[in-house]
Amino acid sequence: MFDTLSDKLESVFKKLRGQGVMTEDNIKDALREVRLALLEADVNFRVVKEFVEKVREKAVGTEVLHSLSPGQQVIRIVHDELVALMGGAGNNELDLAAKPPVALMLVGLQGAGKTTTCGKLGNWLRKQKRRPLLVPADVYRPAAIEQLKTVGRQLNIEVFDSNPGQNPVDIAAGALRFAELNGYDTVLLDTAGRHQIDDFLMGELERIKAATSPREILFVADAMTGQEAVTVAGGFHERLGLTGVILSKLDGDAKGGAALSIKAVTGTPVKFVGLGEKLDALEPFHPDRLVSRLLG
Ligand code: GDP
Repeated sequence: MFDTLSDKLESVFKKLRGQGVMTEDNIKDALREVRLALLEADVNFRVVKEFVEKVREKAVGTEVLHSLSPGQQVIRIVHDELVALMGGAGNNELDLAAKPPVALMLVGLQGAGKTTTCGKLGNWLRKQKRRPLLVPADVYRPAAIEQLKTVGRQLNIEVFDSNPGQNPVDIAAGALRFAELNGYDTVLLDTAGRHQIDDFLMGELERIKAATSPREILFVADAMTGQEAVTVAGGFHERLGLTGVILSKLDGDAKGGAALSIKAVTGTPVKFVGLGEKLDALEPFHPDRLVSRLLG
């Protein structure tokens, strides 16, 4: 079995026990382990570099506490810094503070999990006593509209009636009017994805944004795609101004380093994580849990 980062640091620091302070020299090996662990977890290398630098600054000169071994102490610094980097506690809540109907836009590449997440989020919102309306605005992928309708039926949540012959901007604007007239307080816009970012898609998303003034633009990122997700998130952020990330497929093998990188690179906080294909497999994001996963 692989050693966890904590185990590795413990052994690196064995020789250090009993010394007074941490020095540049004696934490070098430990920081190397931290760097490797983060790279293995698929954190972007630039993010890792900056991060390790920060931990070094914090650690050097720190007194070795009697209650902790030096390894545990570095782990604690790493842990706290990672949580801070992920936005700390409380900064990750969905912003619904607007006059209803509140529009939330889901964006991302094809296959990232948008349609599934749209249903999951509707389900979660209903549990928060809201009245969601699901809106299929992907007219390009065959069966995308049907897929969301099926999800809506399974959850018994209303799906706005649209068809592939319509313009996505008209669908989105029409859905908001429909919501207003029929008492739906939250409108979840499931937008089209592509295999990669293209100008046509971005232009369309910008028009949907202009037509609906969404309170949140949530980027659905597939945790399994690692580094790739960071580049893509950057592209979406540049054009649309993302307000949050939903990290899907965290039930797989991925350690979730992408979440850290996306936050570090775009400043956009992770708000939810997807933990399975089932429609209740969505949880508000807890930086603590992801950090424990990263550190092993
Ligand atoms: P879209 O193209 O972005 O709308 O993606 P879909 O919602 O169609 O999802 C693509 C695939 O990913 C489907 O097979 C989903 O069941 C699956 N999926 C979505 N979210 C999760 C998740 O959190 N965990 C797992 N294991 N699978 C997921």
